Amino acid sequence: MSNENPPRSVYRFGIWTLTPDLEPDAEPVTYAMQCAVCEERSEPAEDLTTVQTWTFRHAGRNPSHHTYREVITRPWRAWMA
Ligand SMILES: [Zn+2]
Repeated sequence: MSNENPPRSVYRFGIWTLTPDLEPDAEPVTYAMQCAVCEERSEPAEDLTTVQTWTFRHAGRNPSHHTYREVITRPWRAWMA
């Protein structure tokens, strides 16, 4: 994801900037998978292959469940210039 042109908005107290948080102390990006048929959802994990494995197990137990949603949680930072 590019940070070259982060979104900026002018509000009452100044100019705010919003970017993905890439600082060393940022929360990790995590992934989860959710079954679109029954809504069951994996635990979030930093490793995408972990949640893909959850999906295969879920599909194996529920052979009619073929559609899934990838849920990405990405930390962002907002600050006023
Ligand atoms: Zn399901």
